[in-house]
Amino acid sequence: MNQFEYTRASTQQAAIAALVKDEHAMFLAGGTNLVDLMKRGVTSPSRLIDINELPLAAIEQTATGLRIGAMVRNSDAAEHALVNRHFPLLSMAFKAGASPQLRNMATVGGNMMQRTRCPYFYDTAMPCNKREPGSGCGAIGGYNRMHAIFGASEQCIAVHPSDMCVALTALDATVTIAGPKAERKIAFADFHRLPGSTPQKDNNLQHGELITAVHIPFNHLTNVHYLKIRDRASYAFALLSVAAALNIKSGTIREARLAMGGVAHKPWRLTEAEKALKGQPANETSFKKAAAIAMEGARSYGHNDFKLKLAPNAIAEALRLASV
Ligand code: SF4
Repeated sequence: MNQFEYTRASTQQAAIAALVKDEHAMFLAGGTNLVDLMKRGVTSPSRLIDINELPLAAIEQTATGLRIGAMVRNSDAAEHALVNRHFPLLSMAFKAGASPQLRNMATVGGNMMQRTRCPYFYDTAMPCNKREPGSGCGAIGGYNRMHAIFGASEQCIAVHPSDMCVALTALDATVTIAGPKAERKIAFADFHRLPGSTPQKDNNLQHGELITAVHIPFNHLTNVHYLKIRDRASYAFALLSVAAALNIKSGTIREARLAMGGVAHKPWRLTEAEKALKGQPANETSFKKAAAIAMEGARSYGHNDFKLKLAPNAIAEALRLASV
């Protein structure tokens, strides 16, 4: 591991000022991904600014929804009464993520900032446009079983590994970001990026900005399910996952929200499938039709060909499980 300086920030302003001063500095929250990246030589910050003392660990009800501070631990959010009562889909996604030990350390903000688990990204002997722009992509033509089927580019076919982010995308959350000059808000669906020609950029956060909270608006979704398909039930990243949320009245779908994980460089919202479900009976035929629509434009890369078959089945299954 390269040498680095360590600073502990006690205020938001001090944390941001320290980051602005050093373009190679990074924030340290739970460290569950960042420290691994540093040990492997993938990321070499000149300075870590520890933000664990910042007062950003509250979960509060607002007039329009829930505000979850960026430093709330994943395990605390998963078990919180307000999250369970108002957003059971999010609780399910939290509990599907990582292991209990990791959830105890990992924060909401850190979860959003975690990087892909593409093995070539972590192997500094291999080409990877995300780690070293212009070096090539080891996964295209290499081993790509975990990789994207939507929204990939010729530069990168990696997927975003989070479960929490998939649920927050389906729930139309908003991210609050503090910067050196002002605060701004961004729709959760616009926070992460597709790889395009800049796969080194995972999201739209600028250097000097700090995620302070996510806000989830109340909704009328009556039936939800988070389905995660993975190699080990105990602890593994998703081969793919589906966040399904419906409003069903008298057997008819009044509203549908669908997002997938493990299929794209960002949580993948299934907007066309949602439209197709609206007004339809909550039955197998509607679910399968929506799943087929969701798969339009999907493309696989060899080892992940199985996802083209698994994904529509998973969408239909998540809708079925949500509807009961
Ligand atoms: Fe790197 Fe992306 Fe290719 Fe993986 S898929 S090797 S992260 S460029």
